[in-house]
Amino acid sequence: MLTITVSSLSGGQGKTTTSLFLGRLLSRQGLTTLMLDSDPQHNLTTYLGFELSPNQPTLLEFLKKTVALLDCIYPTQDNDNLFLIPADDQLDTVQDYLSNSGVGATLLKRRLEAIRQIFQVCIIDAPPQRSQICLTVIGAADFLIIPAEASVKGYGSLVRTLDLLSGLRDVGATNASILGVLPFRDRWFGNTQAQESRAAVDGMRDEVGEKLVLPSIRESERYKQAINKRTTLSQLGYTDLEYPFEILIDKIRASVGSK
Ligand code: ATP
Ligand code: MG
Repeated sequence: MLTITVSSLSGGQGKTTTSLFLGRLLSRQGLTTLMLDSDPQHNLTTYLGFELSPNQPTLLEFLKKTVALLDCIYPTQDNDNLFLIPADDQLDTVQDYLSNSGVGATLLKRRLEAIRQIFQVCIIDAPPQRSQICLTVIGAADFLIIPAEASVKGYGSLVRTLDLLSGLRDVGATNASILGVLPFRDRWFGNTQAQESRAAVDGMRDEVGEKLVLPSIRESERYKQAINKRTTLSQLGYTDLEYPFEILIDKIRASVGSK
């Protein structure tokens, strides 16, 4: 199983949007895909149509191992290859557990080890804060995708995420490398890119190098439409907007193949 964490250390950087479309497309293309919602805001869980009652197991129980791990994994209505470990707002209570465990950053990796034969890809939607949950989901990753708004705020989010990654690598808390940086809400007027967007994307290229900056997710209401209709952009007729995810999926397939 290839584990990919979608992380960016600010709110509203496109983490959940990226996770959702990637998981949906990978699974519809035949890869057995596990999605993991690690944000107590649980937007990914909601977008996938889940309304859990308080006694249903989630990522909280998966991490604490208070129920059988497989009981925390749910099939989705999206398609037969897509599964979810959901979250609810109780997930916040795991922060103390992780910090007291002494192995917080590597705990999720250890748990996922037990199910790695079942799935080909695991996509993790990370929370925006630099919390214990954030450390454990980066600790579990083979690769990181860093979405960042094509703005001053997004550039800052990228820089903070890169700092955290290099700090964690330095102390051996993760082996993750960067699969790509994904500019989010890139604004264009016809053929002209907004000045702030261009400056931000140029800054991203300077930070990680040209090759790691993926084609942008453009500013558009159509992504929200596809999320609300629980479908893909191409099924709504917006195949061109799916391009950044196609490039990512090519990279993921190459890594799944070589693993
Ligand atoms: P959080 O840190 O709060 O979890 P996030 O990084 O997961 O946020 P998203 O929830 O994916 O970010 O996206 C932020 C908002 O942008 C959402 O309301 C989403 O619907 C909206 N959005 C998604 N795609 C686009 C787009 N292409 N253009 C404009 N807005 C978009
Ligand atoms: Mg989110």
